[in-house]
Amino acid sequence: MSTNTNNNGLPNIDDLQNLANELFRTLPNEFPKEISLSPDKSEHPRATKIAETILQAGNLGNTAPIPAQDPLNIQPNPNSFSGFGATPTIANYSNTGASALYPNAGAGFDPQSGVTTSGVQEDYNLNINNPHTGFHDSNLKNGASPQLTEDSFFSQLLLNNQYLPFQTENSSFEIELQAALATVDTQFKKRDISPLNGNGPGNNYYFLDQNPFAFDKKSPSPIVGNTFGSKEIGAITGTNFNAELIKKDFPILRETVNGKPLVWFDNAATTQKPQSVIDRIAYFYEHENSNIHRAAHELAARASDAYEAAREKVKTFLNAGSVNEIVFVRGATEGINLVAQSWGDHNLVAGDEIIVSNLEHHANIVPWKRLADKKGLKLRVIPVDDDGQILLDEYAKLLNPKTRLVAFTQVSNALGTVTPAKKIVEMAHSAGAKVLIDGAQSVSHMKVDVQDLNPDWLVFSGHKLFGPTGIGALYGKEDLLNEMEPYQAGGNMIQDVTFEEIKYHKAPNRFEAGTGNIADAIGLGAAIDYVTKLGIEAIGQYEHYLLEYATKLLKEIPGVRLIGTAKDKASVLSFNLQGYSNDQVGQALNKEGVAVRTGHHCAQPILRRMGVETTVRPSLAFYNTTQDVDTFIKTLWELKKVRF
Ligand code: PLP
Repeated sequence: MSTNTNNNGLPNIDDLQNLANELFRTLPNEFPKEISLSPDKSEHPRATKIAETILQAGNLGNTAPIPAQDPLNIQPNPNSFSGFGATPTIANYSNTGASALYPNAGAGFDPQSGVTTSGVQEDYNLNINNPHTGFHDSNLKNGASPQLTEDSFFSQLLLNNQYLPFQTENSSFEIELQAALATVDTQFKKRDISPLNGNGPGNNYYFLDQNPFAFDKKSPSPIVGNTFGSKEIGAITGTNFNAELIKKDFPILRETVNGKPLVWFDNAATTQKPQSVIDRIAYFYEHENSNIHRAAHELAARASDAYEAAREKVKTFLNAGSVNEIVFVRGATEGINLVAQSWGDHNLVAGDEIIVSNLEHHANIVPWKRLADKKGLKLRVIPVDDDGQILLDEYAKLLNPKTRLVAFTQVSNALGTVTPAKKIVEMAHSAGAKVLIDGAQSVSHMKVDVQDLNPDWLVFSGHKLFGPTGIGALYGKEDLLNEMEPYQAGGNMIQDVTFEEIKYHKAPNRFEAGTGNIADAIGLGAAIDYVTKLGIEAIGQYEHYLLEYATKLLKEIPGVRLIGTAKDKASVLSFNLQGYSNDQVGQALNKEGVAVRTGHHCAQPILRRMGVETTVRPSLAFYNTTQDVDTFIKTLWELKKVRF
């Protein structure tokens, strides 16, 4: 790319802007994807700052003063709401953070540095024992515009590396820029994956600094408990959890939506995938692809080993007693249907009772309702209180000798309620009933130990656990699985076939008829490796903090009705905003790059119990940050200012 110069010997403004934007587009989302040298078009706070610096220093074709502008685009507050002052100006830029946005944020706002609650820098580590320390945000930290002379224009602009990740020492900014682009390319695009020869991917993963695939080898698994937390990995040390660093392992989180960095708050619907999962699936197709179990050749052995290694990972993740207790299915829905058809249809008779809770996803209602209708069973429902919490005493009243099954969710996808799963299982067993836990919303947020919880079955979906779609697992107690009728019939699940008689395999093969989703099972294994390395307890702790942070700020917005206020919650914040339809709120958030789900969330009974048909539902995961929450909250405040 050539660069023209103007009369002052300075580069042409369009060239400069193009070059800068070319760089920005390759950078993580904390950098603007685009800057415009027209001040009124620069919306990203850093873009505003960069444009301002360029124009001030170089006076490139625009002599108009930069209008006083709040980089967070906050307008004066409504009178009813104390804490908003006059319209912020560039001079008080640094004071437009949390205190203005969240007047009640109190201790979280540092008046000296002028940083938001989420903006206090502490070596990129968030101390979750001290939630008022937070993430690096040099943009908010540095309020004043640098004073630049014309001579030092480029070096200062680029040297001012709170905005740009590289420096120039002298004249040739284009060379420097191209050099920087080359580095960025290497960092984000090139990776060396060689799982089978044991070579690690170098520093290509921010978190997985060892070979993420080495665990597939038959030799003893390096995952023994939680080996994570060492300095080398760096993102978690002790109680510090660095979501900013984790985010970088998820390429899609570098996307922009409507010119804004993507904030993925639709984790209850599906989660994003780390690079290691994407690479693992690609590696399978590049080096291992074969059908499993039915050949003597090398690739069949590789594919079978990788597939069975993934089963082992699921077993370890759930702390199941044996790999024979882990059946690969398409997801939670298929797992529940499998149990309903292969156990329920063959074991339940008219008059038997099935209990579900009011919180259930349709996936844990419809199969049971259909079975009940077909066989004359009675479907009974555990009620919840107004906060969306299971009423255990009412549950106790439902249990009786006819109760054959209790099927319930460990975390509600619509409200976020965490149910007292262990207690519910114990009570069901004491009534002689079997228990199925729907773990679709729990496994990504908390330790799920099937030996401790003791359900007869538990299901989850890989795509909600940072793995691929189309794969999930059914855990079942081994003896019980072996007593159950096959679900589907065909190849793979039989020991012997004649036209007179068929002998089935034992579990898990008994339930894996036909060619399964081999690559994605292996991808799920890689996702479990990733989560295991972060540490599920650390994840739970961090997310708890984030949920509290978001809940507090959401509740402060007038007209917000939070739906689901259980004491024990995970990930989900369902709400309505007075004056707006849920879709309008969803669309406004989407404009700011924030992805939330609106609708009934496939859980109509619980929403109707709470008096609504639909909600707006942000749902959090470990790669979300307080800064993401700030963007979300700020957008709701903006909506409030227009209609209230
Ligand atoms: N159960 C719960 C609690 C869910 O949230 C979901 C999906 O949102 C499901 C079951 C169904 O999962 P899948 O569609 O992956 O089978």
